[in-house]
Amino acid sequence: MEVLSVASEAYPLVKTGGLADVAGALPAALRAEGVHVRTLLPGYPPVLAALGPAESAWVFEDFFGGPARLLAGTAGGLDVFVLEAPHLYDRPGGLYAGPDGRDFPDNARRFAALARAGADIALGLLPAWRPAVVQAHDWQAALLPAYLEYSGATRPGTVMTVHNLAFQGQFPPALLGALGLPPHSFSNLGVEYYGFIGFLKAGLLFADRVTTVSPTYAAEICTPEGGMGLDGLLRGRGSAVSGILNGIDAAIWNPAADALLAATFTATTAARRAANRAAVQARLGLAADAAAPLFAVITRLTWQKGMDLLPGAIATLLEAGGQLAVLGNGDAPLEAAVRAAAAAHPGRVGCSIGYDEQLAHLIQGGADALLVPSRFEPCGLTQLCALRYGTVPVVARVGGLADTVIDASPVALASGVATGVQFAPVSADMLAAAIRRTAALYRQPAAWQRLQANGMATDVSWRDPARRYAALFAEIAA
Ligand code: ADP
Repeated sequence: MEVLSVASEAYPLVKTGGLADVAGALPAALRAEGVHVRTLLPGYPPVLAALGPAESAWVFEDFFGGPARLLAGTAGGLDVFVLEAPHLYDRPGGLYAGPDGRDFPDNARRFAALARAGADIALGLLPAWRPAVVQAHDWQAALLPAYLEYSGATRPGTVMTVHNLAFQGQFPPALLGALGLPPHSFSNLGVEYYGFIGFLKAGLLFADRVTTVSPTYAAEICTPEGGMGLDGLLRGRGSAVSGILNGIDAAIWNPAADALLAATFTATTAARRAANRAAVQARLGLAADAAAPLFAVITRLTWQKGMDLLPGAIATLLEAGGQLAVLGNGDAPLEAAVRAAAAAHPGRVGCSIGYDEQLAHLIQGGADALLVPSRFEPCGLTQLCALRYGTVPVVARVGGLADTVIDASPVALASGVATGVQFAPVSADMLAAAIRRTAALYRQPAAWQRLQANGMATDVSWRDPARRYAALFAEIAA
């Protein structure tokens, strides 16, 4: 089966978040399921630079305000179409914002163009290649199902995949014509969303299926608490909304052969983790204490991630005999709070403020427990890495965290299936209680080793998710 995946970023070419990981990893995993994916990406300079010999598959003389070409080739291990449109994508700054950090003023046009190109391919622009299914990722690609709807033509099946409902793409109604949307589309039953053009709203409304990246998040976004204004629409879609968990790249995240670790290990040689633990302690200025449970945090330092609760939990963590290692960056006040905690508790709290892939691997390979107190979490990848590396995840019971960690309740411990600790609701008190519970488990070596071994035996690869996507695609292609 041929599938067109339309995304505004894909690892390893361009990445700002989990969307890139999924768009980059899923095609290879789907190959094993007999699904061939071509990925349509914007022609950002790094994407064009990575593109091997490419064929000019289509030329648009005037595409959203300038000339554009559709290039077909391979880049970053993906079969890609690249929308080369210098007036839209060749500029300094990030993918969505300029060097000053402000969103580009023409983002509506930049990503409507991406969706329009995807819709044209879906409708047969390239006679040699027509997909059976189109997968649109996040708001940047979400006008695609609307363009197909308003074309009135026979079309492939469509899936709208939501990686984070918080980003919805809302733009002024005056842009309707410039985006190539018909006047009658500006209604409640079209692209209109609280007086704006809602890109994600349109995708959620018109796609055959809506997926998000965990079953629990799929349920949460249908509630007023988690729906961010779209819960009514999503409830109306009924069983068309479902969740498929993300995986992680089992080759990059493989503790048995990870060159970024001080010592590699497997489930049967988990004692070798001590060398990684010592390396983390040395790197972050923590005391070389072999007995203290080493808690870690690897995250964006934001409210979504519950990081405002972390400083308040440190006293409990230290009373429980623990150490804390923090790797993260994000909101300036939260960065300052972490630095202050490290300064106040030398040898017990250490931090590295920044984004550091190598240190993330080392911490996963050496820490005892990973704290993930997110307020909402569509899937979460860091707890999946922790499971694979024998770091026991201590997570808020939300979204994908609820789906991927089995709480060490008395029953789960007795039956030997627990993989971590969950807590709810997300509050300073419950986080502190979870830390106390984790420290107590740590002092029961048999139970702790069982938690670690169960986590390491959990399949967090893309294999099962790819099967689920393949089954979904098969259903809507038919
Ligand atoms: P989100 O995409 O919402 O930030 P996820 O848990 O889905 O959160 O994915 C984030 C990924 O990036 C995880 O693998 C996490 O370990 C990693 N990460 C987050 N912050 C850092 C950092 N400061 N340095 C290195 N890796 C990080």
